[in-house]
Amino acid sequence: MTLNIGVIGTGAIGREHIRRCSQVLQHSRVVALNDINRSNCEQIVKDLGIQAEIYDNAHDLINAPEVQAILVTSWGPTHEEFVLAAIKAGKAVFCEKPLAVTAQGCMNIVEAEIAAGKKLVQVGFMRPYDAGYRALKAVIENGEIGEPLMLHCAHRNPEVGDSYTTNMAITDTLVHELDVLRWLLKDDYVSAQVIYPRSTSKAASHLKDPQIVLLETAKGVRIDVEIFVNCAYGYDIQCEVVGESGIARLPEPMSVQTRSAAKLSTSILTDWKKRFIDAYDVELQDFINSVLSGEMTGPSAWDGYAAQVAADACVAAQNSGDIVPITMPAKPAFYE
Ligand code: NAP
Repeated sequence: MTLNIGVIGTGAIGREHIRRCSQVLQHSRVVALNDINRSNCEQIVKDLGIQAEIYDNAHDLINAPEVQAILVTSWGPTHEEFVLAAIKAGKAVFCEKPLAVTAQGCMNIVEAEIAAGKKLVQVGFMRPYDAGYRALKAVIENGEIGEPLMLHCAHRNPEVGDSYTTNMAITDTLVHELDVLRWLLKDDYVSAQVIYPRSTSKAASHLKDPQIVLLETAKGVRIDVEIFVNCAYGYDIQCEVVGESGIARLPEPMSVQTRSAAKLSTSILTDWKKRFIDAYDVELQDFINSVLSGEMTGPSAWDGYAAQVAADACVAAQNSGDIVPITMPAKPAFYE
């Protein structure tokens, strides 16, 4: 059985996902494309040699009879509209993060999905599919390091463009930690604070970089996340869990160790696309398999909502300098 997929938004990640669904993954083919720039779609059809109908209107793609499932990989502010339309059409939808740009927007999707009576949404949080994070979670859950007490994390990019803003450190960057750490600890956040160390001279003058986000969870775990998006040396994701009886660290990506010129060294990745390349494959294969089996198992609309509630609080904390409480409503039974 093959799942016929329509893709809305054929920019950087959309193109990667179209390649995956067409050439790498099993049981899927891309049959329809839409982008605000039609020429993007035409180029992809040519480059990948796929047979896909190009739609000038995203809603026509969503409602096209040949489209069984939808990938939303357009600009963030468009996600809510397209996901709601997919739910209305009764079609499964994989939506890149953010599910919506506000917590209320995510809640609108949660309510629509519950009203539809069937899980249809998977959010593009890929870190829970990463082998390293899965191994780390297994160590926590087998009790080897005791109950987690503190997490020390870092999200570092070599550089960012001038359009990257201080708030984007939360909405574009930290949002991955907000999702994966909640999943790792099976816990929710109760407060956030953001502090700003001395800024690097390599950042644009309008950007505060680095930043440190301090989170507290319902169980009292304290988390510090350094976000440093002009770190100059590489794309580097760190996560150390300090437990009652030991410490567990996220494994480093595989890299050959060399001894040469009086140095012992391993390379550090620079391209974010490569750091989680396998996780993207696994998450999308999971989406395809879930749709075909009729049971969605990946990050849910509720997970998208929870990340956005925390992100909104972190942005408020950035702007105020205060410790901002995070209040999560009880998870609806629909998402248990
Ligand atoms: P991008 O390169 O700008 O691609 C987005 C594409 O969507 C562009 O071609 C854009 O056209 C198009 N678009 C904008 N509005 C549209 C509309 N109303 N209808 C149809 N197409 C529309 O951005 P990207 O880097 O691929 O990111 C896309 C989404 O994926 C973002 O939400 C981002 O946060 C997320 N993302 C997730 C990850 C991850 O690790 N999970 C990584 C990268 C990106 P214009 O260029 O003309 O606006």
